Amino acid sequence: MKDPRLRKEPKKPKPKICPICSTEYTPRSSLQKVCHNYKCAIAFNKQRDAEIAERESRKQERIQRDDLKKRREKLKTKSDWNKEAQVAVNRFIFWRDYGKPCIACGKPLNYGVRGGAVDASHYRSRGSASHLRFYTFNIAAGCVRCNRELSGNLIPFRINLIARYGVERVERIEHDNTPRKFDIPYLQRVKAIFTRRARHYEKLRKRYQEAA
Ligand SMILES: [Zn+2]
Ligand SMILES: [Zn+2]
Repeated sequence: MKDPRLRKEPKKPKPKICPICSTEYTPRSSLQKVCHNYKCAIAFNKQRDAEIAERESRKQERIQRDDLKKRREKLKTKSDWNKEAQVAVNRFIFWRDYGKPCIACGKPLNYGVRGGAVDASHYRSRGSASHLRFYTFNIAAGCVRCNRELSGNLIPFRINLIARYGVERVERIEHDNTPRKFDIPYLQRVKAIFTRRARHYEKLRKRYQEAA
């Protein structure tokens, strides 16, 4: 008896729609992508070439952009990296403390206003204790008045910081005078880590808000 699989008829190619002129056609092989009209073949090839060129130019643009970024990063000074690291840490503080009142006066803070209404207030100031400028236990969300006009408003700041972390932690901050060396790779790491942590907290807060 013959194998039934051998009696199988060769598959008839199914009709397709030409992507150029939209007419129906039956391809002669699986490689045929357009109808039998040579104009459609030309148009199809042109389109494909344009797509390849477009992809290539996008790739070149990306390479140039990355290159420019690298060169710009190389030009950044230690002071630039220091600023960017502090911005990242302060953003982290904003999202970590989101919803909490001013650490010093206890008044509610307007977290809806980005950049201005909420300060990242340092208990030991950046000026006098620059080695603690990224230390998150030393920083809390505070109002502009306490932070800028009252130089931190440190007496109630201390009381509320103790309430938050305990007296041991606060005393450790007060006695910590060990100088740190912050080199550029360290500042870059600070920036990267706190950018990530800030994003994480931001997502958490927003998810919590949506659920509320
Ligand atoms: Zn066609
Ligand atoms: Zn305040």
